[in-house]
Order: sequence, then structure tokens, then C-alpha cells
Amino acid sequence: MFETTVAGSLPKPAWLAEPNKLWAPWKLEGEALADAKRDATLLWLKVQEDAGIDIVSDGEQSRQHFVHGFLERVDGIDFAHKVEMGIRADRYKAMVPQVVGPLRLKGRVHQTEARIARAHTRKKLKFTLPGPMTIVDTIADRHYGDKVKLAKAFAELLNTEARALEKDGVDTIQFDEPAFNVYMREVTEWGIDALHRAAAGLSCTTAVHICYGYGIQANLDWKATLGGEWRQYEEIFPALARSKIKQVSVECKNARVPMSLLKLLSGKDVLVGVIDVANDHVETPEEVAATITEAMKYVAQEKIFPCTNCGMAPMRREIAAAKLAALGRGAVLARQKFGKAAKATAKRGAKKSAKKSKRTKKKPRRG
Ligand code: ZN
Repeated sequence: MFETTVAGSLPKPAWLAEPNKLWAPWKLEGEALADAKRDATLLWLKVQEDAGIDIVSDGEQSRQHFVHGFLERVDGIDFAHKVEMGIRADRYKAMVPQVVGPLRLKGRVHQTEARIARAHTRKKLKFTLPGPMTIVDTIADRHYGDKVKLAKAFAELLNTEARALEKDGVDTIQFDEPAFNVYMREVTEWGIDALHRAAAGLSCTTAVHICYGYGIQANLDWKATLGGEWRQYEEIFPALARSKIKQVSVECKNARVPMSLLKLLSGKDVLVGVIDVANDHVETPEEVAATITEAMKYVAQEKIFPCTNCGMAPMRREIAAAKLAALGRGAVLARQKFGKAAKATAKRGAKKSAKKSKRTKKKPRRG
């Protein structure tokens, strides 16, 4: 009960890349860089295990950015001539690569880090990939001329890599779709279809992460314009509830998202964001347990997975580690608080059925 997990990225150690920064350049090259990525992956597996995280991730230590880490392994993309583009409905400008020809995978994308992580933890392993809609929103298209066609092309490539990750021993594959909170109409029109294409044929657990972005200034400014209540989820949750994706990862802690919207995810596992990644205040275990308690009003207890609101890539390393520890301890508190109640209910249920079977046995057989 209350299995804990993380949204995905974790901060890179200062010897791997410049800290507290998105898209930070690597500090090393060649073999030294490959070694450093492996070491950082091992380091975060250990920190997550120590914190009591149940479903761990590689912390995305081997990619510069959650979208571009995938794109670097795709043919048909020109990385040499990046152009400035307004992304997430022009919320912020980014230098993005361009699609210049038919898309094709150059080979495996995340095999190395997935196998390293799998070899060094007995915990369940989650691996993140960018979702098709979010990729389309983070790249300039000079070839396909149609967003939906482009998304489908990326979905095929994601599917190939996802199936291979499953073979590498990954337990959960999560697609990150922050764009779902920006283009709500398109989510139902084609976003979920593209996601289904990316997840087709997987037998491992599938998840989608939808948040209000990393704790960077542009996102904080955007959030300030969203008013007293953030109701974007309301428009997309019913469609997600009908989708084939098993888990939905959402932002809750310190968000102005009315928690009652979680009701709309009926039937899904909900990865409830109990850790804010946009400020350095380390949640207390009691605060974590309180958010879990609040979520229980709208989501069945066994469907709640306490999680971080979003990736922690741009945070300070020691703050992220402290927040992970709070996540683990908060879940323990909640288990202590509600585990007894759940056990008692199960016991009552067992007693009842035992009585019932006694009664059935006593009954004289007919005929
Ligand atoms: Zn996120």
C-alpha cells in the first residue's frame, strides 16, 4: 500500500553537469562522460533506496533533457541548426532542433542506462520517455507539415524503444506529457491516440505524467496567470480514465488543482504529487501523509502511489535527496495510520466469509 515513486528526473551531480540548470552542458566527454553517467545513475539508485522509494528511476542521469535525450538518437533531425521556438503555447522560448526528413531510430536510445539500473537494484524500475505530443511541441517541423502525422511518426519510434526497455527488465514505462495541460482539446482529438500507439503491445505497467512543469521561473510566471483554481485536468481526465494507460502521475502539493478532480480518474492508479519541486522547503513526513489523506477522499487507497509533482532536475542535489527521504517517511506514516484500518476491514471480511462457509457446510445437502 502507498508504494512510493518519483516523477522521473533527479539533479545531476556537479561533476557530471552544471547543477541547478535545465539543458546544462556535460562536464566531460567520451569514455569519461559514459563512466560519470553510470556512476551518477548508481548514486541516485542508492539514494532512492535509502529514502524508501519503492519504484525507482535512473533519475535521467544520462540525458541532458527529457525530450532531447530521445531526439539525439533519431535520424531525420538537424541538431546543428537549432531555431528559437515558443513552446507550451509560447510560455517560454527554447532553442529547438528541426525535423528535416523521415524519422528513423539510429538504434537503441536508453539501453545502457536501463541495463545498468536493472543490474543494480532489486526494486521495481520505472523508465521515462517523452510523450509524442510533448515532443511535437519541443521541435520545429520542416518535413511532415502536420502535427498529428509527426506525432504518429514519433509514437512509432517511442514504441520500438519502449518494447526494448521492457525486454531490458523495466517494470513501468512512463510517458511524460506536460503538453497535455496546455493543449487540452488536442489531447482528446489525437494526443491519447498517439500515446496508445507509443504504448502498443507493452505488457509492463504504463503511465503518463502530466504536470505544470519544472520549478523554473517561466513556469512559476505561467502558474500565476492560471487563476485561483487550476482546472486543466478536468478537461483531460475523463478521456484519460477511458484510455488504456494504467497510471496517471499528477501534480497536487502546493498546486491550485482542486483535489476533487482526482475523482475523474476512476479506475486508474494515481501517482499523487505529494512533493513540491518548485520550492526548497522540505516537506515533513506529516505533510506528505496529510496530502495522501486528502487524496484518499477521491481515490481508492490501493490506487494511490505517493510521488513527486514533477522531475527534480533543476533542483539542488541535497534538497532533492531530503525531499525523497520525506516522501519515503511520509508514506510509512500513512501506512501506519491507514494500514491498521485496512487490515481490520480485511479481517472482518475474512471472518464474515469464514462464518458464511461454516453456515454453508452445516446446511444439509439436498437431494
Ligand atoms: Zn513534470
